[in-house]
Formats: sequence, C-alpha cells, structure tokens
Amino acid sequence: MITALYPGSFDPITNGHLDIAKRASGLFDKTIIGVFATPSKHLTFSLDERVALAKEATKNLPKVEVLPYSSVTVEFAREINATVLVRGLRMVGDFEWEFEMAMMNQLLAPGLETVCFMASQEYQFLSASLVKEVSALGEAGKLKKLAPPHVIEALRKKMLGKK
Ligand code: ADP
Repeated sequence: MITALYPGSFDPITNGHLDIAKRASGLFDKTIIGVFATPSKHLTFSLDERVALAKEATKNLPKVEVLPYSSVTVEFAREINATVLVRGLRMVGDFEWEFEMAMMNQLLAPGLETVCFMASQEYQFLSASLVKEVSALGEAGKLKKLAPPHVIEALRKKMLGKK
C-alpha cells in the first residue's frame, strides 16, 4: 500500500492542483493533500478555509484525502506513513525550487521519494496567486476554467469583504 503526500499551501486549491491530485491518485493507493498551516507567504484564506475548500473540491475522489499539518513536511509524511512526496512542475519557474526542496527532503528523510508530475498544458500558467489577483480586481467570474465553482465563490466573497 503506497500512500503519497501532496503538500502545499493551497491558498486556494485550483484546477492545476486538482489535476495533479487526480493523476497521483491513479498511481498511488492513497493521496493525502497536506495543507500546510504556516507557509512563508501572505495567505488569503485561513487554514480551516483552505482545508474546507480542498475537501469540497476532492469529495468525489475516493482515494484522495485532505489533512492540515503544521510540522516539517517530512515529519508529517512519516506520521501518516507516506513514502512518496507529490509535487507539480510548471514549465516556467518551478524546477529550481522543487529541485532544491527535493534535495533537502532527501537529506532529511532518505527513502521518502519526491515524484514530480508535469503540469498539464491547460494549467501551465495557472497559480493560486494569479487567481487571487484577478479576483481582487473583481473578475473572479472569469476564472471558471481555472478553479472549481465553490472556490471562485469563496474568492469573490473574500475579495468583496476586503473592499
Ligand atoms: P507551495 O506553497 O509549496 O508553493 P502550492 O500550494 O502553491 O505550493 O502548490 C503545491 C504544489 O502544486 C507545488 O508543487 C506547485 O508547483 C504545484 N502547482 C501549483 N499550481 C500548479 C499548476 N497549475 N499545475 C501543476 N502543479 C501546480
């Protein structure tokens, strides 16, 4: 039984993240989306909100589960018996950072393998931060191809609340 951990901030979860989770669930017995509590970036959604949005987005994926975590990623992987770390690689920008992290994780937890999925063509230029920027400009409705409806609605509400 192979459990994979797909860690990230998921602020919020997008169709790009979902595509990776679905593809991982085709390969592994169980894929856990690990929502990291305190990433070193400015967050729009609270931990509870990020988890709830990810849970709703994956409710029809029986082999995918969503869990919050606040420890070091490799430590959380050990706690849930994950032997694979899943990451997504977009064409521009991700490689160097993912490579650095994979090397560090290899040092911290030998035996925990990082498996990178190439982002699908339609999501190559999709990032949670871009989705948030567009939403902040009042254009969340135009993001239908990039995030599930409940995420778009949450973005709309969040951005309206801020104004
Ligand atoms: P982090 O906060 O660690 O950067 P994110 O939550 O933004 O993580 O993303 C988690 C993982 O999903 C990362 O490996 C990231 O490269 C990947 N990812 C993000 N957006 C996409 C996308 N559009 N297509 C494929 N992978 C993606």
